[in-house]
Parts: sequence; C-alpha cells; structure tokens
Amino acid sequence: MVSVEEVTKIFPANRRSLFPSGKAGSVTAVDRVSLSVADNEIVALIGESGCGKTTLGKIMLGIIPASDGKVLFDGHRLEEFTSSGRKEYMDWRRRYQMVFQDPYSSLNPRLTVRQTLAEPFILHTGLDTASVRLKVDELIWAVGLDSGVDSCLPGELSGGQRQRVNIARALACQPRFIVCDEPLATLDASVKSQIVNLLVGIHRQYGVSYLFISHDLPAARYIADRVAVMYRGSLVETAPTELFFNRPRHPYSQILLANSHQRYRDGRLSDPSVPITHQPGSTGCKFAGQCPRAAAVCFSAQPLLIQTEPDSFLACHLPPG
Ligand code: SF4
Repeated sequence: MVSVEEVTKIFPANRRSLFPSGKAGSVTAVDRVSLSVADNEIVALIGESGCGKTTLGKIMLGIIPASDGKVLFDGHRLEEFTSSGRKEYMDWRRRYQMVFQDPYSSLNPRLTVRQTLAEPFILHTGLDTASVRLKVDELIWAVGLDSGVDSCLPGELSGGQRQRVNIARALACQPRFIVCDEPLATLDASVKSQIVNLLVGIHRQYGVSYLFISHDLPAARYIADRVAVMYRGSLVETAPTELFFNRPRHPYSQILLANSHQRYRDGRLSDPSVPITHQPGSTGCKFAGQCPRAAAVCFSAQPLLIQTEPDSFLACHLPPG
C-alpha cells in the first residue's frame, strides 16, 4: 500500500550531527532505504535514537521530501497527489496520518478536545455541525476517553488522555495508514499498555495499517507483524516479528535485543544500557567498528540488504549460518 524505494534524505550538517557525511557540509539521515507496509499490516521500525526512523516515517507520509528515491501509494508516486487539485490532495492526505511522540506539543493548547477532534471533519468533509458533533462523540468513545473530557484543554489532561486525543484525531477521517512515531515514549508503564491495546483494537476493528516507530521492543513484538531494524540511516534487517525476536541475525539486531533484555531486567526503560557508539563514515559496513564478527571485507564494501529467507532481508557480508 505505502512503500519507499531507494529513498535518501540529506540534511545540511550541524554541530550535533550523529550521521556520517553524505557529502561535504551535509548528513545523510536516510540512506537508500526501501520499505513497504501492506494493507492491514503493522511494521515496527526499531533502532537507537537518531538513526533516521522519524525522518523515514515523515518521508513516507510526504511531510518532508526525500532527496532521492520514490514514495509510492498503491503504486502511484507521491508527486501525483501533491501536484493534483486541492480536492484530490485533501482526499489523499486524510487517508495517511501521523501520531507524534509528544502528545502535548502536537496539540493546540488553546483548543478543547472537542474543537481539536472537530477540525479534521470541518477540513475534510462537508458535514453539518450536528453531524460533526456526533462524529466527535463517536471518536471520544472509540479511543476510550470519558465523555466529560470534551471541554478540556490539553493542559488539563493526563499524558495518556492526550495521546488518546492524538490517536482520535488521526482516526477522524478513516485513515488507511498511520505512522505512529514513538507514541509510548512519554508515557508511564501502565498507560503504555493501554495505548498499545488501543492501537491493536483500532487495527483489528478498522483495518488501519501502521508504521510503528519505537524503542520499546516488547511493545513492538506485541503489536507488529514484521520488524525493520535501522542503523545510521540504513535498514540492516527485516523479518517477521516472531522470527526476528527468536532469532535476530544481524549483529546490531542481536546487540539491540540483548540491551533491551538487560534494561528490562534492571527495570530501566531508557535508551540502551550498553552504548552503541557511532563511528565516523567509512566505505564499508557502518557497523564494522562495533561488530564482533567484522572481517576485512566489512571495512571495504557496504553490504546490501538482500533476501535471505522468505520475508527476511539482511545487510551483512557474513551472515550467521
Ligand atoms: Fe558485522 Fe561485517 Fe556483517 Fe557489518 S557486514 S554486520 S561488520 S559481519
């Protein structure tokens, strides 16, 4: 349904850049990535902070342009929609939505819950006021909010309630696909599980597909059909979820999972405990500086993402046997 082919995104460099230079004065945030999300599918995109996950999600929705490569919706190029008439563009736009990481900053602090949820209907449909009111009531119910919150401002809501409002807003115009960008990152543990269950329920009921961007590997395992692992702007492994968690094949994936297990054992839920440091750009595998399996070939050529099994792809010169 939604796919990117050989997509690259190059930003002007700044002093805090963690990515290798694509060329002088620039950083390559996304490096020739191809990925698709099918109808009724949930793909989890995982990897450490700053690896390009959010940038890729925004490119998939046409929120930021790619520097190179294609973005396709049902086989049609993004440009067909962005250069079409307003009605066609708005019709396309409403079907592809994003839920942002910070549920507070992504809501207008001056709009009540009802006003926030009414906006998409006013923008995308010709419904009259009474019908919009009914639709908003339905949304409030669908995401498990108490009907009394409709007159609240975002500042009067808890983090979990705000994220439910964000999800409700994304659902307002019956989207086919939602990029969920770290939707659990700012929530405490009990609220996280409620939001994950809400997303699963919406997926089952409405058939909405997700790109689920997250550091939370247990949540990714619970929610996703397929996992894609990103490292320094490149995809290094994709596989069906259970296969991936039972048998990660890329050395970086193995470290990511080991770190996650360690964190959960320690009760720490922040970024990886064993640092995965960045090395300046090289011509070889981006992970060669930390890889326990690295050999001479790894420092001279970047491995391509190739199919190793049905539905599984790996970028490694020396895959495990
Ligand atoms: Fe490690 Fe080499 Fe594979 Fe890169 S290509 S992950 S350095 S074994």
